[in-house]
Amino acid sequence: MLKNKKLFIILITLFFYIIFSQKTFALTLSHPEEQHMTVSEDGIFFSGKIGKYENVYINNVLMHPEKSGAFSYSFPLNEGENIFAVQVKDLFLKTETIKYTIKRVSPQHEQNYNKFVEQTPQYYITMKDNVVLRSTPIDEGMNRLGYLPTDTKVFVDGTTNEFSRVYLSPNNYGWVMTKHIKSITDSEKNNNYIPISILSTEQTKTNSDTTYTVTLSDNCPYSAISDGEKLTITLYNLDNDDEMFSKEFNLGNFPRYSVIMQNGVLYVMLKNTPITNKNYSNRNVKIIIDAGHGGKDTGAVGCLGDKEKILNLDIALKLKKILEEHNFRVIMTRETDKFVPLNDRIKLAKDNNALIFVSIHLNSVPISSNPNLNQGTIVYYFNSQSKDLAQSLSKSISNELGTINGGASQASLAVARPTEYIGVLAELVYLVNPKDVVIYKNKKFTSNAALSLYKGITDYIHTEIEK
Ligand SMILES: [Zn+2]
Repeated sequence: MLKNKKLFIILITLFFYIIFSQKTFALTLSHPEEQHMTVSEDGIFFSGKIGKYENVYINNVLMHPEKSGAFSYSFPLNEGENIFAVQVKDLFLKTETIKYTIKRVSPQHEQNYNKFVEQTPQYYITMKDNVVLRSTPIDEGMNRLGYLPTDTKVFVDGTTNEFSRVYLSPNNYGWVMTKHIKSITDSEKNNNYIPISILSTEQTKTNSDTTYTVTLSDNCPYSAISDGEKLTITLYNLDNDDEMFSKEFNLGNFPRYSVIMQNGVLYVMLKNTPITNKNYSNRNVKIIIDAGHGGKDTGAVGCLGDKEKILNLDIALKLKKILEEHNFRVIMTRETDKFVPLNDRIKLAKDNNALIFVSIHLNSVPISSNPNLNQGTIVYYFNSQSKDLAQSLSKSISNELGTINGGASQASLAVARPTEYIGVLAELVYLVNPKDVVIYKNKKFTSNAALSLYKGITDYIHTEIEK
């Protein structure tokens, strides 16, 4: 009895010694990224992992983690300095406090912000290639009309914020960024409206492409708009009654095209595909697999500290294997943890005349959003001809992984914008949503994710062929 009592006391002492000698808590915070930050947003979220026997309070609000320990919580930010005390307590009420100082500044706007400021109409000239002509003065969203080459004359009659308004035809305007155009010098100055004329049009066909060319007396503003089935090109500032010239093209299955203006010539290239009902073979399909982020670009960081770039690559490599086992031709934008610029990824796809481009990502939210309200799968596309692939993927991913299906959503993302391929960007789950953590912590997550992408791609191809 006595011996047991002694042993009991020794064990108890040892237990308390272990507990109290521990200096650190298991709590880890993955957001915010730094303890001192200056932001312009009106809110900020905290997320991370809480140890098993710990309670965490942020400014006296108790955090409620999921079983995995993952938690996210968002707070509003007042203008000026916001102090957050993250207090962690263990079973024995040992505490530690980590202080975050988040300064919110309001974005600086001039007095005339969002107002149209009229000016004497005059000619400007584009100073670089690919100046984006937009339907609205906003640098985001679905408002791209066309891409103007360097030395394109534009007739400008005013500005809104950082954009200049370009005359297209009566009551029809476009917008370009003011920093990409310059006023034509005094000697060349001519404030009269000088229309451009069409010199000739021509259509040529090869095995792989049909090219339609419009030869003009000079570069002019144009728009190229597709609804997935038809492509409509319109040329503006022309020497005719309408001041316009329009032409429609049928795109058909697997529609891919490119529209380029160069040295006064507009090229509309419709890319044929070797895929038809009769001779379809996986061997003829070139697929670009793009593992998002890499190297110095980590991407999102999950509640439990997982890095998006690592998981993306793991899924991409597994998808490559499955596709190749089924004879598809696969090109990877990266096969190691390295940084690859977005333009290099796009160029790789264009240079290889890829049919399909799938970019693999895991989602996060802007710092002012609430991660708990954002959950599941979303697949983004830009051009309407990529919508069916996006839908097919969001369905197969949510089926295989058990995520909420957020469907297909149109967004202006660089890798999805080119019209030369069917391009999508899949956000499989939210790394910062504590409930989605369970899904990506599953041992089979990357294998199942790869399989779900394979199914989504092949379902899409087969539906299109049968059309
Ligand atoms: Zn990403």
